[in-house]
Amino acid sequence: MAKLRILKFGDPTLRKVARPVEEITPRICTLLDDMIETMRAADGCGLAAPQVGVLRRVAVIEVEEGKVFELINPKIIAFSGEQEDAEGCLSNPGKAGVTKRPMHVTVRAMNRKGETYDLTGSELLARAICHECDHLDGKLYTDVQIREITNKEKKKR
Ligand code: ZN
Repeated sequence: MAKLRILKFGDPTLRKVARPVEEITPRICTLLDDMIETMRAADGCGLAAPQVGVLRRVAVIEVEEGKVFELINPKIIAFSGEQEDAEGCLSNPGKAGVTKRPMHVTVRAMNRKGETYDLTGSELLARAICHECDHLDGKLYTDVQIREITNKEKKKR
């Protein structure tokens, strides 16, 4: 496994639409392994392939320690409710903003074995699913941010 470099906001790659994975090759599996290592090293709860410069529809999420979800070609198939909370991004270190997201989200994706599965999440997991799927379409949380969270507020939290 290898730690990858995370692109920062302002890098044009983050604004591009990623291509679907047509075949799960050893390269995709290595990418998933490296992304998990990179996400953990950066203490993040999600990472999308465009953030490491790979324009493929691949993302990893780990909201609960040790429970990693690998999402290949993810597609949100259902959502409901609403939540407003703080959101940040490994590509925008040290910053955060308040966003409005659905409270419950169901995403359909493939794992590295090529099996299709549905993942339903609420609260932070729902937020992470939306955030990572957005990355695959070149969208960033700041696009839907209601307001930025100031350093003063962060200290209070
Ligand atoms: Zn992000």
